[in-house]
Amino acid sequence: MRIIRSIRGLQTWRRKHENQKIGFVPTMGALHEGHLSLIRQARKQCRIVVVSIFVNPLQFSPTEDLSRYPRPVKSDQQLCREAGVDLIFWPSSEEFYPKDFQTSVTVSQLSQRWEGEARPTHFEGVTTVVAKLLCLIRPAQSYFGQKDYQQLLVIKHMVQDLNVDTKIVRCPTIRESDGLALSSRNRYLSESQRRSSTVLSAALKQGVKSIKHYVIDVRKIKNNMQEVLRKTSGISVEYLAVCDAKTLDPLKSVRGEVVLLGAIQIGSIRLIDNMLVKLPSMN
Ligand code: AMP
Repeated sequence: MRIIRSIRGLQTWRRKHENQKIGFVPTMGALHEGHLSLIRQARKQCRIVVVSIFVNPLQFSPTEDLSRYPRPVKSDQQLCREAGVDLIFWPSSEEFYPKDFQTSVTVSQLSQRWEGEARPTHFEGVTTVVAKLLCLIRPAQSYFGQKDYQQLLVIKHMVQDLNVDTKIVRCPTIRESDGLALSSRNRYLSESQRRSSTVLSAALKQGVKSIKHYVIDVRKIKNNMQEVLRKTSGISVEYLAVCDAKTLDPLKSVRGEVVLLGAIQIGSIRLIDNMLVKLPSMN
C-alpha cells in the first residue's frame, strides 16, 4: 500500500495508472466499519482502490469540532492495509488550500435545506473538496455512504452538473447492533448519551413501519416518530422530515420512494440519520 501526501506525487502516480479502473473512497479518517464497508465494495468492483484521508477544514464552521476531530493516523493506515487499499492520499491542508485559494463549488438549492439550514457553509466545503479530489484521482467509481444521504445527493448533482466522468455508488448505512449508525463522532458520546442515541434510528424505524403499514399521511407518520423521540429525555430534535428521495422536498403524503431524515442534538453532539422506504404495492 502506498501513501502519497503531495499533489504532485498523486498526479505522477495517476498518470502511471491511466487505463485502470480506479475506485475511490473519500474520508476524513477515524475509520470505522462504515468506511470499511465502502472500501470493501470498491475492492470488489475495481482494480485499484484509493482512499483519501483529509479532515477538510472548509466543511467545518468556526463553532464546530475541526481541531478536536479524531485523527488516529496509524490505526487508519493499518485498517486500510488490511482492507486491501492500494493507495492512501493524505494531503496537508496547507498544500490542498494554499493561501490564494479562491475557487468553490456549490450545488445551490439542494445544499440549502435540512443539513444546510443547520450548517450553512457545510456542503459548499464538501463539494469543493470532493470536486478537487475527483479532478486529481479521476476514479471510474466513487463510493459514498447512505449515512450522509443529503451529501450523497448533493455530490450526485455536482457530478451530473459538471459532467464528471465517475459513477457515484451508494453504500448502505452500517449500524451498531442497537441501531445507532456508525459515525466518527459517536466516540464523543458519554455512556448515558450513547444509551439515548439509539432513539433516532428507533424513531426512523417507526416511520418506516408506519409506511409499510400503508400510513401515507405525513402528519401521522411524523406523530408516530415523535412519540418514540418523546420517550427519551436530554435530546432535542433539530428536524424530522419525510421527503421525496430524489429531491428532498418535504411531502404531505407518501408517494414513490421516500427518505425519512432526522437530526438530533444530545448535549453538544449532533447526530443525523435517515432511512429509505417505498410504499409497498397493494397486490
Ligand atoms: P466521513 O469520514 O465521515 O466524511 O465519511 C466518509 C464516507 O463514509 C462518507 O461517504 C460517509 O457517508 C461514509 N460513512 C460514514 N459513516 C457510515 C456508516 N455508518 N455507514 C456507511 N457509510 C458511512
